[in-house]
Amino acid sequence: MTSISFEFYPPKTDEQRAQLDRAADKLKKYAPEYVSCTFGAGGSTLSYTSETVRHLKQHHGFEAAPHLSCVGGSREEIRELLKLYRAIGCRRIVALRGDLPSGMGHPGDLRYASELISFIRAEHGDAFHLEVGAYPETHPQASDALSDLKHFKAKVDAGANAAITQYFYNPDAYFGFVDAVRKLGVEIPIVPGIMPISNFSQLRRFSEQCGAEIPRWIAKRMTAYGDDAAAIRDFGADVVAQLCQRLIEGGAPSLHFYTLNLAKPTQLVLSRLG
Ligand code: FAD
Repeated sequence: MTSISFEFYPPKTDEQRAQLDRAADKLKKYAPEYVSCTFGAGGSTLSYTSETVRHLKQHHGFEAAPHLSCVGGSREEIRELLKLYRAIGCRRIVALRGDLPSGMGHPGDLRYASELISFIRAEHGDAFHLEVGAYPETHPQASDALSDLKHFKAKVDAGANAAITQYFYNPDAYFGFVDAVRKLGVEIPIVPGIMPISNFSQLRRFSEQCGAEIPRWIAKRMTAYGDDAAAIRDFGADVVAQLCQRLIEGGAPSLHFYTLNLAKPTQLVLSRLG
């Protein structure tokens, strides 16, 4: 049985908190290895992530990993967060550069995720298991695909233990990425990030921003379903379950599901996988 993990975002309202609790309750039965909670750069969003991680640990009993991005932050702010995460018993962190929200000028003290990894290792040794981001279809801001691979390797050389990929719908992108970084000497597990499909127009917007390609045959079918939400959900679950099946057969070490705090789309995929 392939191990799985789930990603949530930190709720900000009571309604969103109730939604997260419902999703967490339903997804518990799949016994994830851990769950993670995303992080928005800057200001008050910092405490939403730590509060959510605490809640996922204490109320739901998950091993919970905060995402931590360095962009826009000072060394001192990151130091404080690391102390807090250690104090609440976090053993795992998803360490990222992040993206500056538009209008936020200051890039922060650490420029790249590789610098964040080095900083965490210098301050805390091996206290944390560090996951980093990987981009099978190339990070959208990379100057070119080969330098992106080298920058990925720099994160591993700095001390990353494992990687989670941006989502993708073409399994060859994942296998090609894994082959390419293995040739560079990278040995850490590279876990596919899986985005179940529920709302296609939202997915299309997301994908344009983060550089994930939706294959033409999927986009065409989805567009043809129009407002038929049930058909979109059903076809989406088939497509993503087949993707997961191919990834598992091809040797993916585990699967990380982007839940968007909804249980149903992930459940539909997992039920097809048995
Ligand atoms: P990096 O690895 O630092 O790379 C960023 C870019 O810089 C790449 O184009 C890379 O090629 C380039 N680069 C790296 N090093 C150098 C160098 N030395 N010289 C020149 N160029 C360099 N975002 C959030 O805001 N919050 C989240 O919680 C969050 N969670 C995520 C979870 C996962 C699993 C993934 C895959 C992404 C997540 N993101 C999140 C998005 C992520 O923050 C963005 O994709 C961001 O633009 C890059 O972060 P990174 O850690 O991959 O950056």
